[in-house]
Amino acid sequence: MSAETDAQQQERYDYLVVGAGFAGSVIAERLASQHNAKVLLIDRRPHVAGNAYDEPDEAGILYHKYGPHIFHTNAQSVVDYLSQFTEWRPYEHRVLAQVRGQLVPIPINRTTLNKLFGLDLKTDEEAADYLASRAEPVAEIKTSEDVVINAVGRELYELFFRGYTRKQWGLDPSELDKQVTSRIPTRTNTDDRYFGDTFQAMPKDGFTAMFEKMTNHPNITKRLGVDYRDVKDEVEYGHLVFTGPIDEYFDFRFGKLPYRSLKFDHQTLDQEQFQDVAVVNYPAEDVPYTRISEYKHLTGQQHPKTTITYEYPSAEGDPYYPIPRPENQELFKKYEALADATEGVTFVGRLATYRYYNMDQIVGQALATFRRMDERKSQGELQ
Ligand code: FAD
Ligand code: UDP
Repeated sequence: MSAETDAQQQERYDYLVVGAGFAGSVIAERLASQHNAKVLLIDRRPHVAGNAYDEPDEAGILYHKYGPHIFHTNAQSVVDYLSQFTEWRPYEHRVLAQVRGQLVPIPINRTTLNKLFGLDLKTDEEAADYLASRAEPVAEIKTSEDVVINAVGRELYELFFRGYTRKQWGLDPSELDKQVTSRIPTRTNTDDRYFGDTFQAMPKDGFTAMFEKMTNHPNITKRLGVDYRDVKDEVEYGHLVFTGPIDEYFDFRFGKLPYRSLKFDHQTLDQEQFQDVAVVNYPAEDVPYTRISEYKHLTGQQHPKTTITYEYPSAEGDPYYPIPRPENQELFKKYEALADATEGVTFVGRLATYRYYNMDQIVGQALATFRRMDERKSQGELQ
């Protein structure tokens, strides 16, 4: 009897946090360390770190199971927060695109123009004039096609963006919100870094090690390989934090929210290096994958072999990308209204708030969500 009572007592938590990616792990850590709350953190995958999960493969090479993750941010508060759990390896991401049989920098910069068109543009001004001569101004920029055509014109749009985007999203850029291709700048200088952020680095021992440190707290109990559906009636908890797909939480009441998926083909090759940079993009539509990533560039690992990943976009599979377009946003708004009216649950993260957010934005979102929970606690609304 007393063992049963103990077991029952162990099943009472202040919070149940569903999903151990950035959103769930940050919230769990904050609640455990700042509110001294007892937290049950679960994930249906057998590991923490969500899509940022990395692990050594059979050859001992650290690779990213769900595709290449590179940390970059302009938010010092996010860096400060994560730095409690990791040291950093300086790393600036560079990407080449295979276009017309050549490897050229993407984002498009002066080097790209010179290489691709056999030009000798020497200054930012010359490059700006050249792009202006090709650009086709769009009066009201709404779609992902408008963004690029407006900046660089149709030929460069077709070479670098149309095919890649059609493959990646299963939609033409004209059917996607402008935010998708707006992620990629156009440059007139020779800066060939993929990101312009003030802080660009990789967690020194990898993402998973950082997550372990974040979530190994005496107030956090982790259960991995467990779905919310299978525990929700078994454990008692005061409040739920849900970071999975919001439509799934509500049993697809208004219909399915579209998420884009990917298939990853990981390969370990018996050679020290495969390509010159961490990522090479393949925008041509007749190539079935979008990009190839080689991890040793990201991690700095020394190894006689190398591991690479081909990404094949797919409509089926784990939900990786919310698809930014007006009709999907409208459907999400219905779920959001339902979420707002649902007591006892907080929705946070890329899948639950249906936002195409990077890791740092999700950390920022989770920290802001915690601050609101903190206020509610001081007003006596939360335990
Ligand atoms: P997730 O990481 O998706 O975590 C949600 C977790 O919830 C998952 O582990 C899932 O298993 C779990 N879950 C869902 N439903 C349930 C349930 N019912 N029961 C139990 N568990 C559940 N961002 C960058 O900043 N830089 C990059 O270079 C970058 N590259 C990316 C590359 C790819 C291929 C992808 C897909 C994304 C990339 N991102 C990148 C984005 C980054 O992955 C996300 O911003 C971040 O992982 C979102 O964290 P999250 O916690 O919201 O979601
Ligand atoms: N994109 C493209 N060609 C490229 C790189 C990006 O068309 O060479 C478009 C494509 O639609 C892609 C989007 O820009 O989905 C955003 O690219 P990013 O590299 O940020 O995508 P993610 O890393 O999120 O997959």
